[in-house]
Amino acid sequence: MSDNNSRTVDVLVIGGGNAALCAALMAREAGATVLLLEAAPREYRGGNSSHTRNLRCMHDAPQDVLTEAYPEEEFWQDLLKVTGGNTNEQLARLAIRESSQCRAWMRKHGVHFQASLSGTLQLSRTNAFFMGGGKALVNAYYRSAEALGVQIRYESPVDRMDIVDGQFQAAWVGGERIAAKACVMAAGGFESNRQWLREAWGQNADGEWPADNFAIRGTRFNQGVLLKAMMNAGADFIGDPSQSHCVAVDARAPLYDGGICTRIDCVSLGIVVNKFARRFYDEGEDFWPKRYAIWGRLVAQQPGQVGYSIIDAKAIGRFMPPVFPGTQADTLEDLARQLGLDEATFVQTVSDYNAACQAGTFDHTVLDDCHTEGLVPAKAHWALPINKAPFYAYPLKPGITFTYLGLKINDQAAVHFAGKPSRNLFVAGEMMAGNVLGKGYTAGVGMTIGTVFGRIAGTQAAKSVLEKGVEHAGA
Ligand SMILES: Cc1cc2nc3c(=O)[nH]c(=O)nc-3n(C[C@H](O)[C@H](O)[C@H](O)COP(=O)(O)OP(=O)(O)OC[C@H]3O[C@@H](n4cnc5c(N)ncnc54)[C@H](O)[C@@H]3O)c2cc1C
Repeated sequence: MSDNNSRTVDVLVIGGGNAALCAALMAREAGATVLLLEAAPREYRGGNSSHTRNLRCMHDAPQDVLTEAYPEEEFWQDLLKVTGGNTNEQLARLAIRESSQCRAWMRKHGVHFQASLSGTLQLSRTNAFFMGGGKALVNAYYRSAEALGVQIRYESPVDRMDIVDGQFQAAWVGGERIAAKACVMAAGGFESNRQWLREAWGQNADGEWPADNFAIRGTRFNQGVLLKAMMNAGADFIGDPSQSHCVAVDARAPLYDGGICTRIDCVSLGIVVNKFARRFYDEGEDFWPKRYAIWGRLVAQQPGQVGYSIIDAKAIGRFMPPVFPGTQADTLEDLARQLGLDEATFVQTVSDYNAACQAGTFDHTVLDDCHTEGLVPAKAHWALPINKAPFYAYPLKPGITFTYLGLKINDQAAVHFAGKPSRNLFVAGEMMAGNVLGKGYTAGVGMTIGTVFGRIAGTQAAKSVLEKGVEHAGA
């Protein structure tokens, strides 16, 4: 049980996704020696970041792949709306402003951007898409980090930390103690930890444990081990453990790593019913990018944590098709039979909806005037009758993307203990996203938070070593 490095590294980065890589690259660029510990084996490296497609960016005028403008105030208002004010304005505005600055740096490290794809996410103005997706982004960062001399170790899950008086001393991987002068934690939330999810979501009135029916959309490695370690060390936390980014995914998705292609994006083009064949929420409340992240929670609140997204032939071609084909039928009765739903109730639900649809001009790119009248719950936009065969259904279950419980930080991404910032312990990404996202979500802001605070954490960690000459605490 000894320090593995004969020369103690300056900055230890724990995690191997976007936030960790941004931190490692910035610390290295600032002149620090850097060791990055990734829990996953090389082929699964990159965490949830490898599943991503884009990041949300502020800009005041059209910029390469981004159309028109997306000024700070509009970004802030979007965030304010989805979080219901449950956000730290100073940190949120910092993330917003910095999002306009980071893409040149990302390009320098090999990330390429492309125009947004069409479909139900209208994001060309607000979100810059990664060419090759998050996998290509992560691979580019690893290549760049290796070229710059960042040491990388895979299959190295940190299981405990030595912290004394709020200062980092060393991390442990099994029986190996790894000391460093400063540390950045970027090891994701606890979304892959099924037991913790179970505790956070609890039991419902029907005696069900809703979290037992969740799919985890991304990596299996974000077990929240560092979050627990920091709780034990007395660090300051922010956020509610039951708050998370949770979308409706295809109920046939695998337990882990289903990724983006299992998300069901046709909700706003039809109706959603529960296992009793009844609607339960306005499917056309707002644009899909502003609403998709509430549907996991809505389905989680339904009996059995299942739902069915129902569309007709008119919707085909208007959304990104998911990886599994939908159940198809020429009649509503047959569709209900195939889904195991009560036929009469299902047909009644669709007939009631169809009868309530008001004639209008359908336009999926605006909040159009196709709405229902006299129906509960109403459908506010894009309400076209479901009357053109064939009919399709996709089974839904909650898919958890990432949790929001995290460490409280300041604008230097420093971890706090009893209100005091640590001198040498920093945090980025999902582990502190709750500072900005108390609840809700707006597409692409996860990568904005990870990139901005990863860059800040790496810079500050290097600075704490190189400028202040922090004592080697881990000997
Ligand atoms: C399917 C899917 C699609 C998404 N799409 C988008 C999108 O398009 N845009 C967007 O902004 N956001 C998106 N997100 C959210 C986004 O992935 C996260 O907000 C972001 O990637 C978080 O980055 P991170 O570095 O904090 O975490 P991760 O990328 O998850 O990295 C965490 C890393 O820590 C490692 N780790 C965990 N525990 C330990 C330990 N004890 N020791 C060492 N290493 C450890 C993991 O192996 C992993 O490498 C998506 C998420 C998913 C699942």
